[in-house]
Amino acid sequence: LFLTYRRAMKQLVLQYLKLFLLLGLSGVTTEHVPKYDVLASLGTLPLDGHFSFHDLPAAARDFGNLSSFPPVAVLHPGSVADIARTVRHVFLMGEHSTLTVAARGHGHSLYGQSQAAGGIVIRMESLQSVKMQVHPGASPYVDASGGELWINVLKKTLKYGLAPKSWTDYLHLTVGGTLSNAGVSGQTFRHGPQISNVNELEIVTGMN
Ligand SMILES: Cc1cc2nc3c(=O)[nH]c(=O)nc-3n(C[C@H](O)[C@H](O)[C@H](O)COP(=O)(O)OP(=O)(O)OC[C@H]3O[C@@H](n4cnc5c(N)ncnc54)[C@H](O)[C@@H]3O)c2cc1C
Repeated sequence: LFLTYRRAMKQLVLQYLKLFLLLGLSGVTTEHVPKYDVLASLGTLPLDGHFSFHDLPAAARDFGNLSSFPPVAVLHPGSVADIARTVRHVFLMGEHSTLTVAARGHGHSLYGQSQAAGGIVIRMESLQSVKMQVHPGASPYVDASGGELWINVLKKTLKYGLAPKSWTDYLHLTVGGTLSNAGVSGQTFRHGPQISNVNELEIVTGMN
């Protein structure tokens, strides 16, 4: 009986140790580490821009400074087609691929929304092919890249005596970044959030 009791106690202690270890490790972020061929396949994509592999720590930071999920590559798109090609490539890897994609504006989100753990971060500010164009007239509007900073939109439109109807208080944020959460500020009560003042959006998918 004594031996059985000792064995039972030993098992109990082991169970507690396991539980302790599990609890102790539950805060650790798991990272997807894609196979080498997955990374190498990115090099086969015909791009106007390029992938970089040296600025990964920067792509794993944001304003909140609470999350850090390093990607395996950063795409600096030279064109909208680059983004479509990359998204299509990741999609074609199939549902078992661990490669994820995230657009990054100015990285001012708080909880890693613009990060991609073990995936690809698309640095939207690199997109230079979409030149900002102001269209004055009866119903004026500005055509801007999703990676453009609002401060640049303001500076450009002011030259025409115009300004966006609805802003954010802080203007060093990108067009795509604030539209993804509506874009709210002092003008919202009169004109609605920024997203309500968008005439047209180009949605980039892997099919573009
Ligand atoms: C100092 C400060 C002041 C702020 N003031 C305001 C304010 O007055 N009003 C307000 O509404 N918000 C405000 N915010 C919040 C801010 O709008 C959001 O954090 C916004 O997402 C940050 O924009 P970003 O360009 O840095 O985007 P990121 O942080 O880089 O990205 C945010 C999200 O948008 C997605 N995204 C980025 N670009 C694109 C794109 N081109 N296409 C599709 N998805 C995209 C990302 O994947 C991510 O999910 C403020 C934040 C800070 C840090």
